[in-house]
Amino acid sequence: MRTPLLAGNWKLQPLTRAEARALAAAVGSGARGIAGRDIVLAPPFTMLTTVAEAVADSPVAVAGQNLYWEKSGAFTGEISGPMLVDAGCRYVLIGHSERRQFFGETDYTVAKKVGAADACGLNPVMCVGETLEQRDAGVAMVVIEKQVRRGLVELTTEGLARLVIAYEPVWAIGTGRTASPEQAQEVHAAIRAVLREVAPRGIAESLRILYGGSVKPGNIDELMECPDVDGALVGGASLNADDFLRIIHFQESSL
Ligand code: PEP
Repeated sequence: MRTPLLAGNWKLQPLTRAEARALAAAVGSGARGIAGRDIVLAPPFTMLTTVAEAVADSPVAVAGQNLYWEKSGAFTGEISGPMLVDAGCRYVLIGHSERRQFFGETDYTVAKKVGAADACGLNPVMCVGETLEQRDAGVAMVVIEKQVRRGLVELTTEGLARLVIAYEPVWAIGTGRTASPEQAQEVHAAIRAVLREVAPRGIAESLRILYGGSVKPGNIDELMECPDVDGALVGGASLNADDFLRIIHFQESSL
């Protein structure tokens, strides 16, 4: 009942706009005709309009990798939600662990950004996840539950219905080390239990929880077997059109 969502996070990939256009066009044409799956690409800001144009006649949607919560003002270097909408975005990544780790993002700033995305009609993809130290200390679920609860405090019920959560264990991002399907399912089920407490039941059941962390063509099929894994947030493998197309076409025997 939940439409799987497969999102590619290009991070700070130094593509030229021509290279970005070619990669997005390849994904767009390989996604044409896909049914029952939502596909999203999140390029750096300077490539947003290029990518949006390249996928315009395909099922692929575009996401920003970040936003600021104010709509205007003296905030040098920042980009607002309405600017992302104007550039062709329907989604925005919020609170990626790299932003928490390197740019001082906290549950407070994540909540402000989730609220700002809601206010301009963007679908927030709110990222949560524990570090290896936290997992080894047995506090992974405490950390994740706190991130989920605190991240949602600015969200309206209407906005909740558009929310996407991405569970990304920090130890699995860009490391080649993936959470096992059992580990992913355990956390996703726990996140859904939190959602049942904070959201109306129908909404909690319908929200998509993505897994992220070294998702590749070789592990997507088994991850997508998990009942509470509703898609993937893909970093490295989204930079290769063939790999990303294999991922979005997961469990299709013809590939
Ligand atoms: C990510 O960028 O969110 C990510 C999960 O990266 P990777 O797939 O490369 O681990």
